[in-house]
Amino acid sequence: MNPYVVIGAGQAGMQVCDSLRKSGYDGELILLGEEDSLPYQRPPLSKKFLTGDLDRDRLLFRPAAYFDKIAVDVRLRTQVESIDRAARQIVLGDGSTLAYTKLALTTGTRVRPLNCPGHELDNIYYVRTLTDSEMLLQRLASTERVAVIGGGFIGLEVAAVARELEKQATVIEAQERLMARAVSPVVSDFYAKLHRSRGVDVRCSSAVESIVESKQGLLVNLADGARIESDIVVAGIGVLPNSELAENCGLACNSGIVVDEYAQTSDPHIVAAGDCTMHFNGFLQREIRLESVQNAVDQAKVAAATLCGQPQAYRQVPWFWSDQYDVKLQMAGIGMPFDQYAVRGDLASQAFSVFYFRDNTFVGADSINRPAEHMACRKLLTQGTTLSVAQAQDIDFDLKQLAKAG
Ligand code: NDP
Repeated sequence: MNPYVVIGAGQAGMQVCDSLRKSGYDGELILLGEEDSLPYQRPPLSKKFLTGDLDRDRLLFRPAAYFDKIAVDVRLRTQVESIDRAARQIVLGDGSTLAYTKLALTTGTRVRPLNCPGHELDNIYYVRTLTDSEMLLQRLASTERVAVIGGGFIGLEVAAVARELEKQATVIEAQERLMARAVSPVVSDFYAKLHRSRGVDVRCSSAVESIVESKQGLLVNLADGARIESDIVVAGIGVLPNSELAENCGLACNSGIVVDEYAQTSDPHIVAAGDCTMHFNGFLQREIRLESVQNAVDQAKVAAATLCGQPQAYRQVPWFWSDQYDVKLQMAGIGMPFDQYAVRGDLASQAFSVFYFRDNTFVGADSINRPAEHMACRKLLTQGTTLSVAQAQDIDFDLKQLAKAG
């Protein structure tokens, strides 16, 4: 029998391999990765790794010996050119072919590049891969001023790191508020105040017209006429799904590789998981592309189960987190869009949660420095427990007890 092949050695690819072995698949298993590192954790790349508090080796999920132990043939620096579904083989960058019995696509996302004039200049950085972060880490040592384009998770985490390293930091966000895609105005405002209080120059509703070189470094020209002087630019303006391999071999794609709730693509021999998928999420009851660790892990488990002929529908509550300074944001469910919300706790003390409701149903919560509340919310959402606005905002109402009672 030909091997099972996994394309993409990120969190989801790693999890597919692990889960296949745990489910009893004992045939040949090959994991192909483009980068030159064994699978590693990406979240610290915009946090502790950039402050120099975490070594490269500590980013790895597992050492090389682990892959030997579970008999996964990891092939790094390997580019996949195309997939021939009729022949059930893939063509690699060096022209060789690799036949498969089953295939898993865990190709992830790549950064959305800047496209303004000057986007190709030196000293413009992105944060997606280990190499990206290593280059930025090195450059930060000799940098005084950082202009961050994009006030999403990446941009704000990088701005927080810059301030922790005592650099000047400016955040330029196109939307009228920070993290607009993920959180409500209450939480956006909290984060704008937090960053300003730590010395970040936060500019929302700001379009970048061009970046030019100056004697002192770079000049970021904004549409309102403002000019931001900086030594480097870090762009975090979103990501694009790596779905070209799938598109080119005729798999159904729609802003990502389309899979059903079993992580099955439109080809019965191919599954897909993680950031690259547009999937039906049983919890949300709609199609969505989720860029998160939770989705990479949980959907990869579903994909592996499908490959093993033990299908389990994907029905998990999404969750995310972001660390900025000493403030931990944890998100449970998908709160946007909402028609009612409740604040529990005190914004000024930097410990509170915002609960979101749609049609009188609790649909998500953002917790700031409230880990126990976040865990209770995940449980409530998983169970579908009824929660009212009044209960949510009553600090004396025991959420944990409600979650326990089911
Ligand atoms: P996000 O989509 O979170 O944020 C990007 C922001 O930049 C958006 O508000 C976007 O606005 C804005 N933007 C787009 N183009 C411009 C522009 N030209 N000038 C100024 N602002 C612009 O993406 P990130 O890059 O921050 O993060 C990348 C991925 O990594 C995401 O999937 C994120 O979820 C993930 N990630 C998750 C983390 C976590 O869970 N803690 C941490 C870090 C990253 P618009 O929406 O209008 O395009």
